[in-house]
This record gives sequence, structure tokens and C-alpha cells, in this order.
Amino acid sequence: MELTNTLTMKKEPFVPHEPGKVRMYTCGPTVYHFAHIGNLRSYIMEDVLEKFLRYEGFEVNRVMNITDVGHLSSDGDTGEDKMLKGAKREHKTVMEIAGFYTDAFFADCKKLNIRKPDTIVPATSRVDDFIHFISVLLEKGYAYQAGGNVYFDTSKLDDYYVFGNQSGEDLAVGVRESVDADENKRNKTDFVLWFTKSKFEDQELKWESPWGYGYPGWHIECSAISVRELGEYLDIHCGGIDNAFPHHTNEIAQSEAYLGHPWCGYWFHVLHLIDSQGKMSKSKGEFLTVSLLEEKGYDPLSYRLFCLQSHYRKPLVFSYDSLDNAAQAYQKLVSRIAGLSKEGEPDKEAAKAYQEKFSQALGSDLNTSLGLTVLYDVLKADLSDATKRFLVADFDTVLSLSLLEAAEKAGTAAGDDLSPEEKAEIETLIAKRAEARKNKDWAQADALRDELAARHVVMKDTPNGVEWHISK
Ligand code: AMP
Ligand code: ZN
Repeated sequence: MELTNTLTMKKEPFVPHEPGKVRMYTCGPTVYHFAHIGNLRSYIMEDVLEKFLRYEGFEVNRVMNITDVGHLSSDGDTGEDKMLKGAKREHKTVMEIAGFYTDAFFADCKKLNIRKPDTIVPATSRVDDFIHFISVLLEKGYAYQAGGNVYFDTSKLDDYYVFGNQSGEDLAVGVRESVDADENKRNKTDFVLWFTKSKFEDQELKWESPWGYGYPGWHIECSAISVRELGEYLDIHCGGIDNAFPHHTNEIAQSEAYLGHPWCGYWFHVLHLIDSQGKMSKSKGEFLTVSLLEEKGYDPLSYRLFCLQSHYRKPLVFSYDSLDNAAQAYQKLVSRIAGLSKEGEPDKEAAKAYQEKFSQALGSDLNTSLGLTVLYDVLKADLSDATKRFLVADFDTVLSLSLLEAAEKAGTAAGDDLSPEEKAEIETLIAKRAEARKNKDWAQADALRDELAARHVVMKDTPNGVEWHISK
């Protein structure tokens, strides 16, 4: 398999440190608000990566942190802790906010068929590890104390900017913010490992440490959790592209200084979901959530399909029109699968050529849209229905679109005795009726309702659109 590695910005063959085993780390959400569908784009694509590695026979161990302390409003160590901001907004404690939004995050993941990582670690549960990590960095001369805080000394590294794609603009932002904010820093790129009360008086959660009562910086969380859970050599580290700098750059600085050798071989970054205002972001206040899409009648899996239709290394522009197209494509896919007969045994020999094509597609830098094309090819191919169903189930272990389950529901709802063409005709009439009602064309809507009734179609409005079945 080949993956684009942010360290080189090239596609590289993926070779884990230990044959057959993959140690994978994912930056988890900062749980001060709901995840928006941009965050979830990153988690969907990371989920596909994990499942494809398993599909290829790797044993994957995946770890994710939950950022419930230390992530400040600006990535350059300034501003209020985001968790505290959330707590103030909702008149709750930080831990209440963390609990609520952690649960909400995993509920969204479930709706999008994103598998829970093998190990999930809230940052607040590992403060002792962070303190140990920082102590080692101080002992080795990679850190210093100033003005009550502990800083990482970036001048001790040969090469701080490790990523191939760091644009001047990215770097300027990080540097400018740090310089303005903190005159304790020896170098403009130094960053905080441990804050004490001397700097942020109103921080809610604080711990005793050798350097005073305080709290950890955000970057140290991921280094310490990853090294503790996955050992000295990490194979893949994931996150959205905004995490590359400064967060991941700082993680590499700390981890390699602590370990004394290179740490992680592959950096998998997902480009942003953007809308008409630019990058979707929690701090902007207005953002789209899975619940909002559901309220508008979309199946969350249509959004998953929308993400799979594009390459993870390209920005993805969100609009309701494109989501509508994905929702329609999902419906069509499901009704085609619902039309496949359940009789007979699959021809697993004949299936192999398609499994091979699917592997090649996803193995080529996780080309999910090409993977979907292979799925469409299967449905068109000269294969038995049983073989097609076998392949749909096989590919869906990676795509996770619940294709057979959705087809089963569509089949039950629509009546198994209808042909795919008849089902499609009924779907078209229902769509036309919805359109007529939207346009307040009541005469046309009534005429269509009568036509549907004549076909014994019974309809029910649900949050996911109209469900229907044939009355006996
Ligand atoms: P946060 O909860 O802010 O810590 O972010 C969680 C994950 O979502 C991180 O991996 C971010 O890099 C990623 N992320 C943030 N905004 C977007 C976006 N608009 N599109 C894709 N991923 C994003
Ligand atoms: Zn992280």
C-alpha cells in the first residue's frame, strides 16, 4: 500500500516497524463543543484507513486521546483554555462539559459507522505521565523553566520544521502569536509544556507538579499518551491538516527528544472540509453537525458517502446541493443492492479479481472514489447476485456504508416482490410529490398521491425522508 506522507509530501510504500502490525495514533476531539462535520471528515477518512489496513491483513492497534485540558484558544499558547470557555458558556464544570461532549462525539461516530479506537484516553487521566515526560525533557536539557512555566527549547533541535508542506504563512502565524504572547520564551518557536497559576489564574483543573500547581500544554498530551500506549515506535499518526503545525511539529520535537531516536514513520493528514466561509471551525460558532443534517432529513451515511467520493488529500467543499447528490447516489446504490436475489452461493473464485481491484484502489493512497467505482463495476458485472452480495459485504467492511442492512430495510419497506424498476418508478413519484408540495402545487401533489394510492403505496414521513411500503 502507498500513502502520502506529510514528512516528504510524497506517496511512499507503507512499511510498518514490525511486519504485519500497525501502531496507529489519532488526535482526538477537543470536547468543549459538538464535533462539526469537518472534524468528522477527518475521523471518517482515518476510519477508512484503519479498516483498510485490517482488510489487508494488518493487526492494527489504534489509540486516541480526548483533549479535555490544555488546548488554548490559539494554537500558539495564548488565550483561554477551550474547555474553560465551553464550561463558562454553558454554566457547567469543565468535567461536565467534557463528559457530555465526549458522549456526543461517540454518538456521532456511531451514526457515521466510525469504529471506536481500541484505546481511548482522556488527557486528564494521564497527568502523572505528562509530568514524568516533562521531567525527562528537563533532565536531558530540552526544556527550561521561565516565569512559572516550563518550555520546550526548540533551539536544541537540528531541524524543528520537519514537514514538507509547511507554508510560510502557517509558520508566520504560529511564530507571531508566540512572540506577542510570551516574553519568557527563549526562542520564538518554543512552546509551553506546563503552565502554572502564575499565567492563567482562572484555570479550573490544576494539578501539583515539581514546577508548581498548574496544568499541561496540549502537545505533551499526545506524545506522552502515544509513547505509553504504543511504545517507542509509532507507525502512523493521523489528524486534520491544521494539526500539522504547530501541534504535530511539537509532538515530534518532544517525542524524539524524549526517546533519542526517530519516532513516527508516516503522517496521515486529512485536508479540510470547507464551506462558503472557508474552513469549517468550532470557534466560528455556526457550524454543521450530524444532528443538524438529520433534522434536515439526511441519513448520516449519505454524508459518509459524500466524504468517500473525494480524496482525503484534497480540500472538500460542502454544499447542500452536493450532499443532495450524495444522498441520491446512496439511495440508488441501496435500491440496486435491494434488487439482488438472496438465492444461491457466491462464486468466491470469480470474486477475487474484484477484491484485487478494490485493494489496488484503496492501496493507492486510499483512493476511496476509485474503490466506489469498483463497487459500481461489481453491480454491473456479469456475476451471480450471490457473488455481488458477497462482494458488497466484503467492500463494506472498509467503506462502512451499511449497504446490505439498508438494502434489507428498503426491501422490507418496499415489498420484496417489486422489481428494481418498479421501485425506482415509485421513488420518482414520491420525489415528484414532495417537490409539488414544496412548490405548494396542491393539485399536482393530490394527483400524485392518488397515483401512488392506486399502486397501493402507503407512505410515512420520517426524519430520514418518506418511508413507504405496499399495502397487502
Ligand atoms: P478539535 O476537536 O478541534 O481538536 O479537532 C478534531 C480534529 O478535526 C482534528 O484532527 C482537526 O485537525 C480536525 N479538523 C478541524 N477542522 C476541520 C475541518 N474543517 N475539516 C477537516 N478536519 C478538521
Ligand atoms: Zn494530538
